[in-house]
Amino acid sequence: MNGVHLSHQCPQCGAPVELEETDRIFSCPFCQVRLFIHADGPFEYYLKPRITHPGTLIYVPYWRFRGNAFVLGPLETQHKILDSSLLAAHSPAMPPSLGLRTQAMHLSFVEPTTDGLFLPADMKSPDFKARLLKSLPGLATRTGPSLTACVGDVLSLIYQPVFQNDELVDGITGQYLGPAGINVETLGRPGSHLHFASTLCPQCGWDLVGDRQSLVQTCPHCDTAWEPGAEGGQPVTLHFLHTEEKPALYLPFWNLRFRAKGFRLQTWADLIRLTNLPRAILPWMESTAFSFRVPAFKIRPELFLNLSAQISLYQPEATELETLPRIPLHPVTLARTEAFQALPVILGRLAPARKNLFPKIQGGSFGPLEARIEYLPFVEEPQEFVQPEMSMAIQKNALFWSTTL
Ligand SMILES: [Zn+2]
Ligand SMILES: [Zn+2]
Repeated sequence: MNGVHLSHQCPQCGAPVELEETDRIFSCPFCQVRLFIHADGPFEYYLKPRITHPGTLIYVPYWRFRGNAFVLGPLETQHKILDSSLLAAHSPAMPPSLGLRTQAMHLSFVEPTTDGLFLPADMKSPDFKARLLKSLPGLATRTGPSLTACVGDVLSLIYQPVFQNDELVDGITGQYLGPAGINVETLGRPGSHLHFASTLCPQCGWDLVGDRQSLVQTCPHCDTAWEPGAEGGQPVTLHFLHTEEKPALYLPFWNLRFRAKGFRLQTWADLIRLTNLPRAILPWMESTAFSFRVPAFKIRPELFLNLSAQISLYQPEATELETLPRIPLHPVTLARTEAFQALPVILGRLAPARKNLFPKIQGGSFGPLEARIEYLPFVEEPQEFVQPEMSMAIQKNALFWSTTL
């Protein structure tokens, strides 16, 4: 799958700059400025019209998701890599999805200065994900209990242009879509959800460093870490698992604290009772909180589930460091809100006999509490990276693949 192409005028020098949809740092090759890209809510893009028409220019919203989808039934585990869009507003004349348009065309950020009127999205993102899981070929839609999740590196709104006078016309192909059907009273102008802010360290003024797709940028001068926010860099505290070996790479994981609603899951003992893991319940387990760990980087769905299960059961003791390591930190490309979506399917993955789990959690849910980044050190072998403390290996090509998803 190719990355979607996105163009944006440099906020500093005005040059047109091409970027990837997953870039979290705007980097101008002309004036060298580096800026955090942040949106309040999902990123919003639009496709530029390619025809002229006397009608009113209206943008119609589509949800777009790219990432891993999971369906865990009583016996089977299914997963799939998705790249899909669905119409996000009630507008019967519009095609139900954007098809291949998002991959074939250039996108632009929606900004307050963007011409045209915007039809608001009336479908919420959880409903969008639920529909995706129901409608996709290859993922069985059975009746009966299942645990599902869509965990994406892209969840955005893409606006498709149409023109409307007494008819409705596709703004890209000029194709007639139907009689005028969009109520102009529901239309509005775009708000200012998008922010570009300096990547100079807010604490010491040094240039922050990090992969352009990473949500975490670090300051090599004062050993602090930052993520994009509405006002610029927001401080984040990173935690690291100690190793006696000499690591070649640090991989990021989200440590997710949650509140279970409708069933009991606070401690290790709760986890063992809920999932029937074949372990004896020891006194410390009754008083030790359990949290989930999930990869904070792009990785194939089966590996995502397996790594989550393995590391959640290992519960590494990751501590804060005085100085940051000087070896590469793998980019954090999975937002915490997406990471939290994975909790039901990881719980399902942990249960040796899932059919016994379903009645215990029926009607329940997970509420997000707190998320922190923990880096696990890996040493390099010819074909794989190995985490020595956990004796866990990840094929090198699995990580390489993950950056090109
Ligand atoms: Zn520039
Ligand atoms: Zn600094």
